[in-house]
Order: sequence, then structure tokens, then C-alpha cells
Amino acid sequence: MKVGVVAIQGDFEKHVLAIRDCGVEAVEVRTPEDLAGVDRVIIPGGESTTVGKLMERFGLGPALISAGKAGLPVWGTCMGMIILARAIKDREQYSLGLLDIEVTRNAFGAQVHSFEDEVTVSGLDAPVMGVFIRAPIVSQLGAEVSVIAKYDGKIVGVRQRNVIGTSFHPELTEDRSLHRFFLEI
Ligand code: GLN
Repeated sequence: MKVGVVAIQGDFEKHVLAIRDCGVEAVEVRTPEDLAGVDRVIIPGGESTTVGKLMERFGLGPALISAGKAGLPVWGTCMGMIILARAIKDREQYSLGLLDIEVTRNAFGAQVHSFEDEVTVSGLDAPVMGVFIRAPIVSQLGAEVSVIAKYDGKIVGVRQRNVIGTSFHPELTEDRSLHRFFLEI
């Protein structure tokens, strides 16, 4: 198995290391050609406006849309979940629409409000430490989307068949349980 980590901007290196920790090959993905050889894709945290623009311009966006629709497992963390959404509240910005959700950006407040706390994720044996950095929340949910994590009454994790979105950053902790969960879907 080979996991591609979208490496346009953001904390992709941490995801590459996390996947290698799980004993699985990880490669950086920037172009549609890079995507061709991978079995799974992670979209990391970062700046969704910038990454969206570059994904659209260099063709990775359309290639990910086709691959995701064809069943390729895709997981977006924080910015990655924003990129996967159908809509972003009160914004016009590029996104893939692989998750039938609307997200609200920076939903917990500005940078100073970044925080860590335990989050229970359905399908995992134990809670994980959720690192929230200017994190989005899911503010609307389509019928085919299931909620896999909530924090403080807010939706912070969703799954729609082969596509997963989480508001927080598991790659910034030592706990690999969410990465392993993703490797098994
Ligand atoms: N707030 C950022 C955005 O909207 C996401 C932050 C993150 O990925 N840590 O792009």
C-alpha cells in the first residue's frame, strides 16, 4: 500500500512521518501524475484558500474529485476537511465537494483560541487527543454523511463512505490510532 499526502502547503510532513510510523509507504502528492500511483490520500492542515487555488490551477483538484468519486479513500484534517466540503459558510472558495457538508472556518475563534482536548471518535477503542488550530466545524450535514466525532456539541469528524474529515490534527500527536483507522478503511 502507498499513501499520498497532498504536499502543496501546510503540515504534510507530519502526516508522511505518521504513515511511515505505521509501517506504510508515504509519498508527497502535488500533481495528477503523483496521484496515479497511490492507494489512499491525506489532505493535511494548512491554508484552505491558498491550497484550493493551487489545486484548481494545477489539476490536482479535478483529479482528486474523480478518484474520490471512484472510491479512493481520502482523509482531510482541518484544512483538508474544508477542502473536501461541498460548501464553506459565507465564503466563495474552491473545494472538492467529496463530503456533502458545509463547514464553518475558524469556528472556535482566532489563533489564540487553539486548544487540545480529548475527543471520542466512533470506531476507535480509546479517545484521541484532539489538537484544534483555528479549526473548522461541520455546520450542515447531507443525508449520506455520518458523524464520527463531536466536541462540545459541535461536529468535528464525519465520514461519507470512503471519505473522512476531521477538524483536528492527529498527526501532531504521537497517537497513531486515527492513521491506522484510515489505513484500514
Ligand atoms: N483556518 C484554516 C483554513 O481555513 C485551517 C487551519 C488548519 O488547517 N489548522 O484554511
